Amino acid sequence: MKVDTLNYIRFWGVRGSYPAPFGSHMRVGGNTSCVEMRVDNHILVCDGGSGIIPLGNALMGQQDIKELTVILTHYHWDHISGLPFFVPAFVPGWKINIYGPGDSQQEIERRISGQMLDPYFPVELETWMADINYIMTENNQLEYGPFKINTFNVHHPGSTFGYRIQVHDKTIIYASDNELLFIDKNIADRKSEFEPEEWQLIEAMRTEEKNKTIEQIRNAHVFIHDAQYTPEDYAKKRGWGHSCYIDTANFAMDANVKQLYLFHVDPNYNDAKIEDLHRATTKMIHDRQSRMECHIAREGLIIDIDKL
Ligand SMILES: [Zn+2]
Ligand SMILES: [Zn+2]
Repeated sequence: MKVDTLNYIRFWGVRGSYPAPFGSHMRVGGNTSCVEMRVDNHILVCDGGSGIIPLGNALMGQQDIKELTVILTHYHWDHISGLPFFVPAFVPGWKINIYGPGDSQQEIERRISGQMLDPYFPVELETWMADINYIMTENNQLEYGPFKINTFNVHHPGSTFGYRIQVHDKTIIYASDNELLFIDKNIADRKSEFEPEEWQLIEAMRTEEKNKTIEQIRNAHVFIHDAQYTPEDYAKKRGWGHSCYIDTANFAMDANVKQLYLFHVDPNYNDAKIEDLHRATTKMIHDRQSRMECHIAREGLIIDIDKL
């Protein structure tokens, strides 16, 4: 597809958990997490799920860019499984910078290469012919071309990042996997076990945690966030590290987000179901008299950054 704008965000993979290449899912898309941000001829890629494979193939047809930076939220399969098939990594002359959770460059490399070890994959990481540069930062901040990137921790099993990205005076938040109501999971059913003073402390902790999250996403122009479950499925999957779309929409409105993109949607949900959830979210927004826009993050969707 030809892209008419110079500075844009493009969704290459929007599913959570595992690829869903089913006929009933194609309006939303079947690939797992991968979002490209291209500004001033610099490419920042969020996550390397199966969606990074078609991105890599598309880059092979272009001559002008030979470097990019990949920022990983964490190393669950749905966020790295496309990397062993990412063609630019195999091509000499390309430079690929990779950042993600880890205490050293070696640890980041090990976490990525583990999925390519025998007997899980036919060739190992040494077959990557590009110049691969693993990034460490002192303060969880990094800059790449026009992108200023801040890292924050989210609630997901293991060490997992969300990213607050500043570019051309616009703020984009990418948090693919995050259970917004994780504290409630632990205590909601146990209120009777606590003394009133203890419960007050817990309530204060919940409020503080909520306020911290809202500050992290406040005033974002684009908020790409975990919206994996319906309330019914979330009730069964509390503690798995994902959010119900209703919680995602409420946090986004509380934080004065301009555009919300429902992301990392459940691979069990077909197009009709996700479109129903989107309609329900739109009604919620209307009922709260908010002006926030809400969209389904569909594979192939392009957001013009200059028009935000
Ligand atoms: Zn995930
Ligand atoms: Zn995960």
